[in-house]
Amino acid sequence: MTPRRVSILGATGSVGLATLDLIGRAEPGTYEVVALTARSNAEELARQAVRHKAAHVAIADPQAGIALKQALSDHPEITIGIGEPAVVEAAAMPADWTMAAIVGAAGLRPTLAALQQGRALAFANKECLVCAGSLFMTEAARCGATLLPVDSEHNAVFQVFDGAQRSAIRSITLTASGGPFRTWSRERMMQASRADALAHPTWDMGAKITIDSASMMNKGLEIIEACWLFDLPPEQVDVVVHPQSIVHGMVEYADGSLLAQLGSPDMRTPIASALAWPERMAAPVERLRLAEIARLDFEAPDLERFPAIRLAREAIKAGGIAPAVLNAANEIAVESFLADRIRFLDIAACVEEVLSRSHGDADMPRSLSAFDDVYAIDARARQLARDLIADRISDPQSRTTSS
Ligand code: NDP
Repeated sequence: MTPRRVSILGATGSVGLATLDLIGRAEPGTYEVVALTARSNAEELARQAVRHKAAHVAIADPQAGIALKQALSDHPEITIGIGEPAVVEAAAMPADWTMAAIVGAAGLRPTLAALQQGRALAFANKECLVCAGSLFMTEAARCGATLLPVDSEHNAVFQVFDGAQRSAIRSITLTASGGPFRTWSRERMMQASRADALAHPTWDMGAKITIDSASMMNKGLEIIEACWLFDLPPEQVDVVVHPQSIVHGMVEYADGSLLAQLGSPDMRTPIASALAWPERMAAPVERLRLAEIARLDFEAPDLERFPAIRLAREAIKAGGIAPAVLNAANEIAVESFLADRIRFLDIAACVEEVLSRSHGDADMPRSLSAFDDVYAIDARARQLARDLIADRISDPQSRTTSS
């Protein structure tokens, strides 16, 4: 058997490490690791590279590059790239399957380089599709790439979405755990700390997506991601809160059938599904024992307490630059919340305000017809968000949380 050549972008993160965990459990000779990348965690990147006999590693942060070279000094067989362009070069190294798991819009260029190989691309980085869905989908078709959704909800829908019955598909549903603030009042959410927001009840994930889950912006981004992946209008993408995180996604057919995928809340199931696709592989996840779980609850999301879902729906309906602006503003707001510069409810307020300011902003590009436009929109929206947050900090009266 010829080993399958795999690369992992974002190898030191939550999804990257879960992917490597699965690769490490496979029969020797099943996979050959081509390239692993990270931003600054040189120690973990070196450890994974040695453990999985990677041919190449790349790290975005030049400072961390020095540590990476030291950590791999006994392994001259592993080549090293340093700097952001080196991460893109690593993504372009021939591989049969690539996991795109860099967090945020930072993943745009490397993910695009991987996609342009025209092979299988496992898509965890939803921000790429949010910012540039139309461009990514057009490029994937042009290059003949196969997109394999990794987000648990999209992977679930992918598993029960019968492409041959497209006209009979009424809607798809993404489930949401509701995050740590599902039952909190808005007043209590105003006081939420960083630790409160990072305490996700069911999923163990990286910091950014965990905060996005608490604000439910994650679900908003996922609605946009689903529209692109499944070529559906936002009206056909529903969200339901399901606190147990057992049912991940559903497809409703015209005859009234609702097909769902269920599984323990462990990312290794959707990752294994994408890694083995179109086959199946064993994953070391807890088996579902429905009699022990006993009940599954579902409720409608509260759009008053979680305005991020409304903002994302408005952005995808508006189209054009709006989703990229939403994403960039959210990344800056989450970063600022994690740095204790703004309060929790300021995140959505900041995104809404940046979307509004972007309309009349003379420096904001208006069209989104090439990837260069995406980078320019992203950069300008980040600047607007930074300026807004700086204003809010210098004028605390304007904070959502104190109004
Ligand atoms: P983490 O924060 O855990 O990991 C992010 C990875 O990206 C790390 O390897 C990090 O390197 C790397 N990275 C960050 N910034 C850059 C940069 N500027 N250039 C190059 N590499 C960079 O994130 P997650 O694994 O949680 O999430 C990854 C993606 O998958 C996100 O888009 C998220 O929305 C999506 N996703 C995650 C899920 C989860 O369960 N975690 C579930 C579904 C989707 P370093 O460690 O050196 O900082």
